[in-house]
Amino acid sequence: MGRAPKRIRIGGQKTRWGSCSARGTISLNWRLMLVPADLFDYVIAHELCHLIAAHHRPSFWRELARVMPDYEARRLALRDMGARLSL
Ligand SMILES: [Zn+2]
Repeated sequence: MGRAPKRIRIGGQKTRWGSCSARGTISLNWRLMLVPADLFDYVIAHELCHLIAAHHRPSFWRELARVMPDYEARRLALRDMGARLSL
């Protein structure tokens, strides 16, 4: 995608798969090790898009769709995984 975080943190957040701080740190939930690779890739693409758009307005989703056209199916599948992992 041509962009990189300043730092990557691995944590055990209870309610999120990942997050991106204003300082460019991407935090990833260790539980991502338990999900299929295509859903892991969704979280990475999602957080990398936050490096240029720190919100969930339509321009964010347009950018994500540009790099990952099938993001919506992955987003829904990940939500289902979240329910199963009780995140
Ligand atoms: Zn987000």
